[in-house]
Amino acid sequence: MIEKYVEFIGEHELDAIFKIAEKIKDLSILHVNSTKAGGGVAEILNRMLPLMKELGLNVDWKVIKGDSEFFNVTKSFHNSLQNGTGNIPEEYFKIYDKWQEINLSEIPLDYDIIFIHDPQPAGLIKFKKGNNKWIWRCHIDISNPYPSVWNFLQKYISQYDSMIISVPSFGKDNIGIPQFIVPPSIDPLSVKNRDIAETTVFRILYKFGINLEKPLITQVSRFDYAKDPLGVIQAYKLAKRHVDIQLLYVGSPATDDPEGEKVYNEVVKASEDHKDIHLLMLPPYSDLEINAFQTASTVVMQKSIKEGFGLTVSEAMWKRKPVIGGNTGGIPLQVINGITGFLVNSPQGAAHYIIYLIRNEEIRKRLGINAREHVRRNFLITRELRDYLMTMVYVAN
Ligand code: UDP
Repeated sequence: MIEKYVEFIGEHELDAIFKIAEKIKDLSILHVNSTKAGGGVAEILNRMLPLMKELGLNVDWKVIKGDSEFFNVTKSFHNSLQNGTGNIPEEYFKIYDKWQEINLSEIPLDYDIIFIHDPQPAGLIKFKKGNNKWIWRCHIDISNPYPSVWNFLQKYISQYDSMIISVPSFGKDNIGIPQFIVPPSIDPLSVKNRDIAETTVFRILYKFGINLEKPLITQVSRFDYAKDPLGVIQAYKLAKRHVDIQLLYVGSPATDDPEGEKVYNEVVKASEDHKDIHLLMLPPYSDLEINAFQTASTVVMQKSIKEGFGLTVSEAMWKRKPVIGGNTGGIPLQVINGITGFLVNSPQGAAHYIIYLIRNEEIRKRLGINAREHVRRNFLITRELRDYLMTMVYVAN
């Protein structure tokens, strides 16, 4: 029910969305990504597609196939694009191309507008036929990519009709196609983000053995080095010397992320003998649980070292939580230092702000109120929907 968003954005904004959608209602639209569940891209598509359909748009979503070899290749591409380093054997590029061919037979590419999300399916552009329009929607930090991977990818990207990035600094000078800056968004009406009853929150905390009395510091993230789970644990241990807190680290597997298990095992090891550290590996679609954990938290962390955007930041801010975020990628769009949360560059910095926030309820409240308003104005799904519609109008004309 798209009308329900009026409560957050007002009639005027909703009318504008309907009017823009009207301009592309005769076009067929396809979104392609690499996982149905797990991670921010799937999270957004799951919520965005029904809204686009409600606007009368003819839109589909397909997920590419791949085996473990392919997803190892794409994960190493992903890491080297974000970290600027890598060791990529020549055969990886062949494996990548081979799977683009395989997916060609699975994915119909005769839509009027095709959104390709992230690098995994980006090579499908080589099968572009006719005059349809292709948009590469990049969700990761490509500001300082490892050259051999970026050069390989750029050959494909430059064939697109436009690309969308989340943060201005991810833009490219010599790509030769129009670039749009569209930060991601959260859905205030989803099970993950809507207000839930206190009794539900308590029931879920109780079920997972979390102490209802002790201040809770939470990070919700895939087990990925970019999310710095070991840094989160280090920050917790440093802070714990000064304030009596508990830490909850919640992750879930994603089919396109083969590294998760290795990272998880390292996190388990680092948490051994710390009874106030709760590590949870939840199945995908545990949205009510995630909502409860974020709602129950005193402070939320997103201590990433690299981050395209970090939906978890806006999710927590929407719940009026002060967020301690890594000073990287899309996090500073959301965490305005000292206003909606704190930005940090080290476990020591994170520990400092954990202690500070635990000891200052008034500051926590003030940051939380600012945080909610910042998300309302900038990071709700209706704003991203409108930006996508505008991009489609642009490429279609
Ligand atoms: N998420 C989840 N369960 C988990 C871990 C993450 O549902 O155990 C969700 C999280 O709430 C957010 C998304 O997955 O909606 C992660 O998006 P984000 O942009 O933070 O990071 P990404 O995984 O895309 O790098």
